[in-house]
Amino acid sequence: MPYELNKKLRSLDAYDPIDGKYKIRLDANESFININDIMGDVIGKAVSGTVLNRYPDPLATDVSDAFAKLYGIMPNYVTAGNGSDELISVITGTFLEKGDTILTLSPDFSMYAFYSSMYELKIRTMPKDEDLRIDVQKVIDCCNNNDIKAVIFSNPCNPTSLGLTRADVIRLVKNVFCLVIIDEAYMDFWDESVIDIVDEYDNLIVLKTCSKAMGMAALRLGFAVAGETITKALRIVKSPYNVNAVTQAAAIAVLNNKPLIDECTAEIINSRKSLQAGISAIAKKYTAITKVYDSVTNFVTVKSPDAQLIGSELLERSIAVRAMGNYLRITAGTEEENRIFLQEFEDIVKRVSQA
Ligand SMILES: *Cc1c(COP(=O)(O)O)cnc(C)c1O
Repeated sequence: MPYELNKKLRSLDAYDPIDGKYKIRLDANESFININDIMGDVIGKAVSGTVLNRYPDPLATDVSDAFAKLYGIMPNYVTAGNGSDELISVITGTFLEKGDTILTLSPDFSMYAFYSSMYELKIRTMPKDEDLRIDVQKVIDCCNNNDIKAVIFSNPCNPTSLGLTRADVIRLVKNVFCLVIIDEAYMDFWDESVIDIVDEYDNLIVLKTCSKAMGMAALRLGFAVAGETITKALRIVKSPYNVNAVTQAAAIAVLNNKPLIDECTAEIINSRKSLQAGISAIAKKYTAITKVYDSVTNFVTVKSPDAQLIGSELLERSIAVRAMGNYLRITAGTEEENRIFLQEFEDIVKRVSQA
């Protein structure tokens, strides 16, 4: 008998980021600022001293401390991960048991459902309203009426670019019995975080990443922030040396530079604002763009019945954005990238609108 993959592996679709070489990459919500261009000497010095023959600090203590200090929280609430992706995997795989139901919202980050299905959880998906916003009361009712063991969503949301206020998140956490996992990958671009109150609720986990505002996607570093009981468990179940020593050393240097992080974040927000203004002006002129969402992130989401066509025509012009169903998600780029994007985008949208 030949070896056969099990059923869940046979039916898998690979995560499908856009590959290939494109001149302008506005498809993955990365920072357009390479932090290594700015403080490469400091990072280089920090990394050059890395001990390579020994295993790294299993709890990534120093980098977790630097992260905690940056956000003004207690280090004993912080668990470091190999990107927040790893933490999503560890949490769905260990805080829930096979057959438990996890609630996801739609549209949202696809990895929540991916890992949940790998761990053989039941996934209940609540579609968002027509305006793509989250109705907190509906989420509360769904959790309490359907034996939901955990609810997970991104706030602000990738791909909608919209956010749920801190007051609404607190209302949710207070009024359900299940675990609430808030993925704040984009919260550095907004100001409604609940990271500072994890110790007040025993059912709350906040996820953060260094991949977006901090411009360190290549280093793979994320954090889970939660009260003591959850943190204790999380540190036990994660794999012991999940954050490598080079990443730890480089990220400490960056996280200790709050003025630079703040400056980069402000620059990214400015870029998104001007991108959003440019896209809105185009949307007013042509029928093919039916809605531009009010972004609180580093990307702009638009609705268009021609999203797929526009996305592939942009690709032909060597500009990568993310097309999902009837939506396009465009990451804020450098001034020059935004300018070229807007020019090509208008040209395509104009033609599509006349067709
Ligand atoms: C980009 C992103 C992340 C970051 O993942 P990392 O593994 O830390 O790079 C997490 N959640 C959402 C919703 C994202 O868009």
